[in-house]
Parts: sequence; C-alpha cells; structure tokens
Amino acid sequence: MCVRIEIITTGDELMSGLTQDSNFSWSGDVLTSRGFTVEFHTTVGDYRDDISSALVVASERADAVIVSGGLGPTPDDLTAEVAAEFSGVPLELNMRAVSSIEERLSKRGRVLTDINRKQAFLPRGSRVLVNHWGTAPGFSIEKGGAVFYFLPGVPKEFRAMMDEYVLPELERKRTGRKKVRSMLIKTFGLPESEVAVRLEGIEREGIRLGYRAHFPEVHLRVTASGDTGEEAGKLIEGFAGDVRSRLGSYVFSTEGETMEEAAGMLLRRHGMTLAAAESCTGGLIAHRITNVPGSSDYFLEGVISYSNESKEKILGVPRDMLIEYGAVSAPVVEAMASGVRRLSDADIGVGVSGIAGPGGGTPEKPVGTVFIGMDSDKGGVRSEKFLFHGTREEIKLVTSSHALSFIMQIFLNKV
Ligand code: ATP
Ligand code: MG
Repeated sequence: MCVRIEIITTGDELMSGLTQDSNFSWSGDVLTSRGFTVEFHTTVGDYRDDISSALVVASERADAVIVSGGLGPTPDDLTAEVAAEFSGVPLELNMRAVSSIEERLSKRGRVLTDINRKQAFLPRGSRVLVNHWGTAPGFSIEKGGAVFYFLPGVPKEFRAMMDEYVLPELERKRTGRKKVRSMLIKTFGLPESEVAVRLEGIEREGIRLGYRAHFPEVHLRVTASGDTGEEAGKLIEGFAGDVRSRLGSYVFSTEGETMEEAAGMLLRRHGMTLAAAESCTGGLIAHRITNVPGSSDYFLEGVISYSNESKEKILGVPRDMLIEYGAVSAPVVEAMASGVRRLSDADIGVGVSGIAGPGGGTPEKPVGTVFIGMDSDKGGVRSEKFLFHGTREEIKLVTSSHALSFIMQIFLNKV
C-alpha cells in the first residue's frame, strides 16, 4: 500500500509570514527522498475551529497525518485540546508524559511546574511520543483509519521526533516492499529552464525527478524505486549517468557536497594549492572555501583588495593598467590572480572584480559586470566576463560560485 501522507502545520506566525514553514519544507524533502509522496499540506492559524476542521479533512483523505505545533503551555497552544475533541475523548494527565518531562527537568536541576504539567494533558488513549529534545511531549492517535502524529513546532524537536518515531513507522507501513534510493544532483551554471531542456525525455519507469532552484544552483532530486535495493541502486546510477552526460560539467555534486567542498576535494586530490584576490566579493570566496574543514591543506591565502591602491600595492597590479582599463576589467583581474599567486606561491591564483551595485554602474559596465581571472600552470592566465542580475548580495554570491566553478574546470580539462 502506498501511504497517503498529509502534513498540517499550525501557528499564526506561519500564516502571517513571520516564520517560514521549515517544518513542512524539511519534511517534504525527507519524505520525498525516501520515496514517499506528500499528497496534502495544510497550514492553519492558532484557532480551535480551523485546527479542528483541518484534522477532520485530513482524516478523510490521508492514511498518515503529521501535525506540527501548538503543544506548548501557552494559551495559543490548542492542539492537544482540539485533538481530544476530534477523537471524542477527554484530555487527561498522562503519567508517562509527566515522568518524561520530570526526568528532563531534573537533569537541568529544575522541578515540574503547573505550566509544564499542562503539557502532559493528552487525549485519553493516545500514545506518548517522548520528547528527548524539549519539554512538550508529542503523541499519536488513530481516527477514521488514519494515524495522526502530533509533534512540537520547534524545528529541532520536530525533526528529531520525525526521525525517531514517524519515519520508521511510515517505513513499516509501506507495503509492496518497494525499495527506494534517492540522490541529490547539484548543478551550477545553467538556468533551470535550460537544465529542463537538456533533460527533456529523460524520464523513465521507476524514476521520479524533481527540480529545486537553490540560488544560484539548480538541484535535481532523483528518487528510484525497485523490487530490491540493488535494483533501485542500479536504476538511479544509470539515470544519474544519463543526467551527467547531458549536463556535463554543470553537475558538480551527487553526494550532497557543496560547491566549496567539491572544489576542495579536487584541489586535494590533485595536490594543488589556491589563493584568492577578491574585490567585489569582499572575502566571500575565501569564506566559503574555509568553511570546509581541512581547507588549510590547500587554501594558502586570501586578499580582500578593495581599493585601487591596494590592488597596486599588495597585488602588484600596474597603476597604468588600472588607469587605462579600470579596476573592473580583464587585464586587472588577471593581474590580481597572478599577483596573489605570486604572493602566496600557490598553484592557482584567482582574482575577481566587479560592480555589485546598486550604484556604480556605467553604460559600458552596468551593475552586475564582473570579471573573474585565473592563473595556473595548466590553464595559463585567463579571464572571463559576466553580467549578473540581482541584488548586491546575490551578485556577490553568484560571483563566488562562478569563481569556484572556474577552479573546478581546471581539473575537468575545460580550461
Ligand atoms: P512550544 O513548547 O515551544 O510552545 P509548540 O509545539 O507549542 O512548542 P509552537 O508554539 O507552535 O510549538 O512553535 C514553537 C516555535 O517553533 C515557534 O518559535 C515557532 O515559530 C516555531 N515553529 C512552529 N511551527 C513551525 C514550522 N512549521 N516551521 C518552522 N518553525 C515553526
Ligand atoms: Mg507554543
């Protein structure tokens, strides 16, 4: 049987847009990657009637319903009360819930208060889902052929309890014994529409393909199902191979690694070192690279060279060149790349300069104009010009991604 899943998220802060519904997006992602389909998603504010009608509707159309939020002790936390009414049973003090809260509090040197006690009132007959990550216990009830999981709204607790209770139970409910494998393929450098054009007609039996724009990257979530794990694995490997052959080096990751991790792995594998001279990215390239543990093995130096004086004094960019071509130009980023390479004795030097905006653009060099330069033995000294669109932060981010991609291309024999 395939399990029809509904997710209900509750809270005024979700309806007003103050809080992003990350419990939903996280669950959707995790469930989909395990081969489940989330068929319905409802969000309601902290109103008794609305929560109640969401439960009724869900019981009629889903087999498993995951409800997040409203289990705390404050007056707007109504979920347990509504769940009891929905099941036609009273709320009663659940001793198992009391002892789990007491245990947790005593570890912190605190005692049970009336407020905590309120959280231990659960619908009679419900199954407690002990919360090891916070005080509000979760619970589960069955009604109208559907199983309901009520979990706290705090994302850390919600996720932990999904992992501990809900996901293993859903796995057990799934019959037909289809095995599922999933893979996240990350691409960079092509817009989503172009990725879609290149992948046209790639669909096949047993494979589901979903797109997720993750600026400035495009991610593909692939799920394969087969009668055995081996069959699903083979299916997904074959499909990923096809995706790779159609998208080539635009694919930079299939095992969850970030772009900086992927670049770092290539540098390490080839025993090469890197240094960066950054103007418009203000150190973002160095920041991303050094977010990877162990990056000191290959990253030698980063220079944030914002003024013309600094480019001249520190990186040795000739003054005449800066005057003739301007700081945002091919010769200057090439000189920056060579300068930082010389300074640090790295195998690869990268240099970036651009106009991140919102001011500072000219007709010849509008906002978003960026040059990225590279100096390496393999690729020589070279540069590329880009015109990006977006906010200042987006331009900085996409520039740093292109620089990382540029570095990776050296190893993929594209430069
Ligand atoms: P508590 O005991 O903390 O009151 P609770 O189960 O009552 O837990 P809520 O009061 O609904 O949960 O939410 C607690 C916190 O979790 C709030 O800061 C809220 O913004 C956040 N939160 C609730 N639901 C979601 C959601 N769907 N996605 C992301 N954050 C959420
Ligand atoms: Mg609350």
